[in-house]
Amino acid sequence: MKRVYRAASLLEVAHARNVLITAGIACELRNQYLAGALGDLPMMETWPQLYVDDGDERFALSVLARASTGVDGTPWQCAACGEKLEPQFLQCWHCGTDRPGSAPQDAA
Ligand SMILES: [Zn+2]
Repeated sequence: MKRVYRAASLLEVAHARNVLITAGIACELRNQYLAGALGDLPMMETWPQLYVDDGDERFALSVLARASTGVDGTPWQCAACGEKLEPQFLQCWHCGTDRPGSAPQDAA
């Protein structure tokens, strides 16, 4: 397993996890409940982190990079099921409908 993301905020990590899942990448969330725990660990080691299989590392990193840069900052609503979605999602995580106006990019 390779670590591809970590952040102090579980919310950020949960968003990144959703991005990976939307892209079809299996990932593992670690340290979900460790933050704030006492101990000798360096603080960043206690942050929630995302791990993916070794073979998915590069794809996962590119998906996360694209998600963090290609965002227009506007939450959107799924036309099919009405789910409200964060701007970084190109697809409805609920029903899989593509975001209106977002041409499918390299889906590799
Ligand atoms: Zn939907």
